[in-house]
Amino acid sequence: MINNLNQLSEKIYNTDFKSLDNEQIYKVLSELSNQMLLQRKQNSKDKRKLYYLSAEFLIGKLLKNNLENLGIRDEIEKILLENGKTLAQIEAVEPEPSLGNGGLGRLASCFLDSLTSLDLKGDGVGINYHLGLFKQTFKNNSQLEIPNPWLEKSNALIKTDVTNIVKFGDLELKAVMYDLPISGSGQTSNTLHLFDIETADESIVKDGINFDKKDIKKNLTLFLYPDDSDLDGRHLRIYQQYFMVCNAAYLILKELQDNGHSLDELDKYAVVQINDTHPSMIIPELIRQLTQNGIAFERAVEIVTNTCAYTNHTILLEALEKWPYESLKQIVPQLIPIINKLNEIITEKYPENESLHIVRNVPMKFKKVSSINKPYYILKNIKIVHMATMAIHFSKSTNGVAQLHTDILKEDTLKDFYKIYPEKFSNKTNGISFRRFMYYSNRQLSDYITKLIGDGYKKDSNKLKELMKYIDDEKVLNKFAQIKKDAKINLSNYIKETENIYLDDSYIFDVQIKRLHEYKRQQMNALYVIDTYLKIKKGIYPAHPICVIFGAKAAPAYTMAKNIIHLILCLQQLIENDKDVQKHLKVIMVTNYNVDYAEKIIPAADISEQISLASKEASGTGNMKMMLNGAVTIGTMDGANVEIAEYVGKENIYIFGKSAQEVIKLYETNGYKSSEIYENNQAVKDAVDFIISDELNKYADLTKLEALHYDLITKDWFMALLDLQDYIKVKNKLIEKYNDPIAYRKMSLVNIANSGYFSADRTIQDYNNDIWKL
Ligand SMILES: *Cc1c(COP(=O)(O)O)cnc(C)c1O
Repeated sequence: MINNLNQLSEKIYNTDFKSLDNEQIYKVLSELSNQMLLQRKQNSKDKRKLYYLSAEFLIGKLLKNNLENLGIRDEIEKILLENGKTLAQIEAVEPEPSLGNGGLGRLASCFLDSLTSLDLKGDGVGINYHLGLFKQTFKNNSQLEIPNPWLEKSNALIKTDVTNIVKFGDLELKAVMYDLPISGSGQTSNTLHLFDIETADESIVKDGINFDKKDIKKNLTLFLYPDDSDLDGRHLRIYQQYFMVCNAAYLILKELQDNGHSLDELDKYAVVQINDTHPSMIIPELIRQLTQNGIAFERAVEIVTNTCAYTNHTILLEALEKWPYESLKQIVPQLIPIINKLNEIITEKYPENESLHIVRNVPMKFKKVSSINKPYYILKNIKIVHMATMAIHFSKSTNGVAQLHTDILKEDTLKDFYKIYPEKFSNKTNGISFRRFMYYSNRQLSDYITKLIGDGYKKDSNKLKELMKYIDDEKVLNKFAQIKKDAKINLSNYIKETENIYLDDSYIFDVQIKRLHEYKRQQMNALYVIDTYLKIKKGIYPAHPICVIFGAKAAPAYTMAKNIIHLILCLQQLIENDKDVQKHLKVIMVTNYNVDYAEKIIPAADISEQISLASKEASGTGNMKMMLNGAVTIGTMDGANVEIAEYVGKENIYIFGKSAQEVIKLYETNGYKSSEIYENNQAVKDAVDFIISDELNKYADLTKLEALHYDLITKDWFMALLDLQDYIKVKNKLIEKYNDPIAYRKMSLVNIANSGYFSADRTIQDYNNDIWKL
């Protein structure tokens, strides 16, 4: 090994391995793992291949994961140690690729990991964003966004010689393909293909993350999810999406033909999984490229429908993409005749049911200004293209991502589609990479489990169940407790170093880490903090000191989400300045929550907060990660929490709040009035009003907190006040339980032992058995 490393060091830096600095060592190790991955066995040309299309891949750092999967981590660590270095130091200089946003992107990455670990043939296809989503910083207790460049440093990307010309209505761009080799615990490797343009120009980004949204030639691959609050932003997203699918279709058909197969056999040799609606234009684009190459239109539709499968990730209407027909006509005119024909097929079949149509007329209000400068409104019909609708009609499968979510799709959101295509619908409950989120990031826990039950659980996660034989073994329970404690010490040290905030590891670590969204209800957790604070001021203390840890980015244009971050940061500062309260309660929002942070926080979690409004969280995967690391969940009966509850039993999960059915009913009947709860419950009123109190406003921008306060008592669309009292009651019960360490450690062990189902290896096997058949 050391010879290999020296050779590579000579080749890249003209010196031997031990003379390198940390960044150079990173480069050499990353080069080494890429080389080893590229040498791995290739799957046969005659097997069907999966193309996983996704706007995001939240892949996390790669080095440690790759070294582990290649089985050389220990050896490398030993060599590093001999040179006075640790792997952690080398990992610290590795940039985390800014290619994703949240759960959906992380899922895509866990899937690539599991596909590879199971030696299944499947590549990811996406976009090589130069500046990512954004990097989160805090200033004056508010979120500030700055670019998150990762390509300028050493990284593992490999430039290929695959290029493609992408034509838009008004310009042509040359696409270049970059590859990231993907490792798994199996014998083969797969690839993440990322398309880019050579004319991307980071220098057009000024003051935060602002840039000229019309300068497509320079901005196309700069950011993931550019602000779509205006038309130019929405257009940029269409440019990005088409860029992704045009290149994906080109690559898929090229590989098919390179392997000696005919275009007519596409569905035999390829399957395309459409991760949410962002890549759904792959359907008309594949049809376009097939017909251009001589396949008849009807036949092309048939082949493409048999090749594509669609995953729905949300029932939130704002996320089911709809594009103005006129915008598509301007940006991707070549798709318009195809979309029209697809729409005709559907309207002829189902003339009466407009909700099934792909292109629909929607009345829209437009503001005009009269000659005397008075605004007035006109009503105009505009044509809208429904991307999810197209994806369901013209693919072979539609799946939800947890049982409850799939049931809601069938019975509610997509019921008209379910009626006509019952055979297309199925559930594929999400999963996570156990390797990344426990075996490699919580080695102490993994090693101890191996000592207890052997390492068979690493190949078959259901074997974790064998841990149940230790449920009454106090020695074992104490050891698990000590491992948790060590993880908490590690996290406190890291947070002290990076955020300069001290967390006492004797406190309960209560963790809510996920994108900031009102439906996920970080605001309800903040109200819990306020309620606890007010009680402490009255001399009523929580049963055990608690540290509430948040990690969350808010979309730059999502004002209410940013107001909630502001509230949490103000609470953090208020409590930091109050020694007495700190004896019982701490709050911290960590900066720039990402995969790297997740891997550090999750092993240390005592409580996992999964408190979305029931029916709104499609699955959640953070819940699975923390369960696997022995946290106890407090949550609503939402998403995969429902299945977690089934596995651990109701004594080992803390459930509260209204059910999905009750919530759906409230929306249907307009039956929820937050003002009534606010007016009729003193504790709720006190907590809500504290948001605009003088005490807090010392640290706050009053207008932001006033907007939040006003929203909560007049609208509260995601019903935080509805569940608040029950949440406070149940959370305090859980905190009380923590004072019985044996009982708490038993719950923790039950959670680890029953997490096996939530491995992404299981999810991938389900997709493969039912949909892909690779
Ligand atoms: C797992 C993960 C998520 C998704 O978390 P949810 O709780 O399921 O929303 C988001 N961000 C990162 C960095 C993750 O690792």
